[in-house]
This record gives sequence, structure tokens and C-alpha cells, in this order.
Amino acid sequence: MFDHLDRMPLATLPTPLEQGPPLEGGARLWVKRDDLTGLGGGGNKARKLEFLCGDAMATGARALVTVGAAQSNHCRMTAAAGARLGLEVHLVLSGDRPAEATGNQLLSTLFGAQFHFTGAEESHWGELEIAREAVTGQLTAEGLAPYSIPVGGSTDVGALGYAAAFVEMLDQFDERSISPTHLVFTSSSGGTHAGLLAGRAAAAHQGRNVPEVIAIGVAKGVNVGRPDVAELANRTLALMGATTVVADEDVHVDTRWMGTDYAVPTPEGDAAILWAARTGGWLLDRTYSGKGCAGLLGLAAEGRFAAPGHAANDVVFLHTGGWPALFAPGGAPRRSDSGV
Ligand SMILES: *Cc1c(COP(=O)(O)O)cnc(C)c1O
Repeated sequence: MFDHLDRMPLATLPTPLEQGPPLEGGARLWVKRDDLTGLGGGGNKARKLEFLCGDAMATGARALVTVGAAQSNHCRMTAAAGARLGLEVHLVLSGDRPAEATGNQLLSTLFGAQFHFTGAEESHWGELEIAREAVTGQLTAEGLAPYSIPVGGSTDVGALGYAAAFVEMLDQFDERSISPTHLVFTSSSGGTHAGLLAGRAAAAHQGRNVPEVIAIGVAKGVNVGRPDVAELANRTLALMGATTVVADEDVHVDTRWMGTDYAVPTPEGDAAILWAARTGGWLLDRTYSGKGCAGLLGLAAEGRFAAPGHAANDVVFLHTGGWPALFAPGGAPRRSDSGV
């Protein structure tokens, strides 16, 4: 389903699927370690970048342009991808240039990326996209043939990475003779979600057993819900040459763990960061994977994973990464925060 598509081998695949402690209610937890995709510190964007950069190289691009919040993991991994492929990388970021680069920005600096600070607020995605268009236009005028990537790399091409990841997971389930009932993960710009749903639809169409996909939404105002995610998934399926579709009803986004807004920490997210660190040695962050894990734990507490008649059902948490943000100011829970 993917062999005919342009792809650069940037990620270390397959990522491990490891067992965690039992969840409240008794479900067996499996953690899909996409924080370990390798590229520039790892995380979910590496899978999208394999296909995005495949497309960029096929079109003869000499530069990559992308956009994100100040502590964007996607920007950091795009910077690393550009370094690997010998492409100039331009990052359009929210906020102003800090006195000292920290966390993801520090790493992007090491990878040699050039920053364009917009002064925009963190989750003003529309304003950031306009700034990306402006930088793209400038580089085009300079003859750099830039490949310009929207927020989170969430295009149909980028989402191919998670369609392939879904199939990779099914193969790992087969190896362990498990058949998970639910897959939970953190969703922001919707590309991971769309890709997973595309892979799920294609696999179900081939008669394979597939888990229900539950997105824990942590952002507003991007491709976060229906019909955007279903539409993106269907464009991804078209690229795969699949003949099946994703329906609006297949899109489940639970935003109860977002708190007040994108990148604003929550007590539940902080508690989940500590739970993961102290039960599995896993590193989660306050913007994405911590809130996603809070959703996983919250759904377990509500009995969402109970499977009557089954001794122990299996639930997968897709760990999307995010650890570098722990080292940005305010990036980690402190003793003064509740529950630490
Ligand atoms: C980008 C990101 C997500 C969300 O992925 P989308 O495809 O944008 O929805 C989740 N977790 C981490 C750590 C991320 O960097």
C-alpha cells in the first residue's frame, strides 16, 4: 500500500511495543514507543517527515519551510530532517526570539535551522500560517524552491506516516497474539489521527481485526475534529490507492483533558507525567503526551475499556514523544504544582 510512494528513510522503525502496568479496571496496557523514532530526538513527526521529505526530494526542493508554536516538536524534527538531507530549513515560530534558546528551540539551533519569530500568540494558527506563506514566497523569489509544510506536517502526504504506523502496530499485535480493543493517543493538528484512521480503514477492508481509535484533543482551531479529520484520512487513502473510506462517525476526539487551552498545563496532565515517569520510566510533556496519557488514565477510570466476558483486554497508548519541551522554562511539573 505504500511501496509506490516517495519516502525517505528518516525514522528508526519499527518502534518498540512494550507492556506497561495494568490500567484501572484491569485492562493490559501496551505502549507504542513513537517517542523513539530516532530522528533528532524522536517523536511522531518523524513518520510524517519520511513521506513529506520524500515528496520534497521528488520535487527538487532545496529548502524546507514549516511552522509551529515556540516549543514545536514538529519544527525540531523538520530541522533534523533537513540536516540529514542537506536542505536549508526555515522555521516560522510563535512568540519572540528568547534571550536564550531552550528545549526544542535549542535542538533546532543545533540542527542548523533558521528562525523566523512572528510575535504571534501560541495557538493563533491562522496568523502563523500566513507568516509561513510569506517566508515561503520570499525563499521562492530567492530561487530556493522551498517545500512548505503546514502546521504539524498534517497534510495527506504527512498522514501516510501514520497509516503505515497503524499497519506496523497490527503486525506487532499478531506477533504477540493480542487483539487490542482501543488505541489512545494525543491529537493536535489531526494528521496523526487521520493517518491512523486511514490505516485502520484499509486494514479492516482486508479483513484484519482493528482497535477503536480514540484521540485525546489538546488544541483548538486546527484540524481537530470532524469532518476535517475524516476528509484528510480519505485523501490519504486515495494516495494509498485504497478503495475504502473513513466516515465522520469514525472520528472520536475527546477534548476533556485539554484544560483551558493548547499548551496550558493541567493538574491531570502533570499527574500523568509523574505516573508515566514513575511506573514506566517514560518521558511525557505538558502540552501533548502528558494530556494524552491523562485521557488514557481518565477513560480507564470511567470503565471505558471494560470488556465484559474477556479476562483481560488489551489497550494501546501511542506515545507520540515531546520530551525536549521538559527542558524549556515551565516545561516540567515542579514541587509547587499540585500532586508533585
Ligand atoms: C505534534 C504532536 C502531537 C500531535 O500530532 P498531530 O498529528 O499534530 O495531531 C502529539 N504529541 C506530540 C509530542 C507532538 O509533537
